[in-house]
Amino acid sequence: MIADKMVGFVRNSSVIRAMFEEGKKMAAEFGPENVYDFSLGNPNVPAPAAVKEAITDILEHEDPVLVHGYMSNSGYEDVRAAVAEHLNGLYGTSYAAKNILMTVGAAGGMNVFFKTMLNPGDEVLTFTPYFVEYRSYAGNYDGVLREVPTDPVTFQPDIEALGAAITERTKILILNTPNNPTGVVYTRETLARIADVLRKKQAELGTAIYIFSDEPYRELAYDGVEVPWIPDFYDNTVVGYSYSKSLSLPGERIGYIVMPDSLSDAEDVIAAANVANRILGFVNAPSLMQRVVARCLEEKTDVAYYDRNRKLLYEALTEYGFTCAKPDGAFYLWVKSPVPDEKEFVAEAKKEHILIVPGSSFGCAGWVRLAYCVSYETIQGSLPGFRRLAERF
Ligand code: PLP
Repeated sequence: MIADKMVGFVRNSSVIRAMFEEGKKMAAEFGPENVYDFSLGNPNVPAPAAVKEAITDILEHEDPVLVHGYMSNSGYEDVRAAVAEHLNGLYGTSYAAKNILMTVGAAGGMNVFFKTMLNPGDEVLTFTPYFVEYRSYAGNYDGVLREVPTDPVTFQPDIEALGAAITERTKILILNTPNNPTGVVYTRETLARIADVLRKKQAELGTAIYIFSDEPYRELAYDGVEVPWIPDFYDNTVVGYSYSKSLSLPGERIGYIVMPDSLSDAEDVIAAANVANRILGFVNAPSLMQRVVARCLEEKTDVAYYDRNRKLLYEALTEYGFTCAKPDGAFYLWVKSPVPDEKEFVAEAKKEHILIVPGSSFGCAGWVRLAYCVSYETIQGSLPGFRRLAERF
């Protein structure tokens, strides 16, 4: 008998993953060129050439015992120092190796932080819509995920609702900007207001409330839109980063979390996160990949590639009459379903061989998500189908 708790997790298991499997089946049946799969955020831009060069060079020239061995549970000291220096150069901070913990992607980092911080019944807040796994990650440590609404047009956080949602059990607020699934980037003004509310509530309740800033899409912003560095706004911020999207390495499972000295109980948090990484069974982030990313800190993915997709899809769908959130970042387009039950729209789209994800998977019914990290030709090929859908509804 599987664990009672797993029964719920299995029942709610990801619709997105199920769709991805469905997409593969359809591609086999109708030919991959006739299926337009916008379901999964799996980057289709290859990793920069520097990644392969780094792998080869490390394997040829670095000590294999070191490269494939265990190291500190937080990661190689030199890698963490290099990441800290890189961030200091970008944001004028003064992080050291001890502030960085190398993780098994963004998901691993978040689980490490939640395990480090959550007592059963502690509350984790997230703005809607949100990356669906947040609920499972909080649930892993018997935390309770609470949803806080965003503005129904701009999808910027509703600051008043945030204030009202905070209780003495609130431990963590998750931020995710650029956002999956909306593509929205939070403005400086929004972040300053969030920080004000959190500081006020901390003082009022006598508690510590931490922001966990989930930033796998940090570099994916378009038209010069700024992605502010959140620790500048609020001391109790831990940043989670991943190379899954920024270097197109999702299967390699590599990222880091930043735990600044400005955190409440910083020393305890840093020490406990190191242990959490070990006892969760990660032990440490993949060793070769740690060494690879340390050599690729200045590398960037092809943002222009995604931007071209974004423009084509956004402009075409808007022209056909769909309402879309303004996509400033990440590689998702958030589209209002033309009928209240977006699952009906998703089913109709499937008849056009277009695979999209219902918004209810992100805690926001009535909308759908399109991941445009696909080929330009896939988008071009899908447009007649979208036009027919617009006419049908
Ligand atoms: N957070 C968000 C918002 C994501 O969209 C994803 C992946 O799509 C993750 C976390 C997990 O990223 P990783 O593959 O680095 O664990």
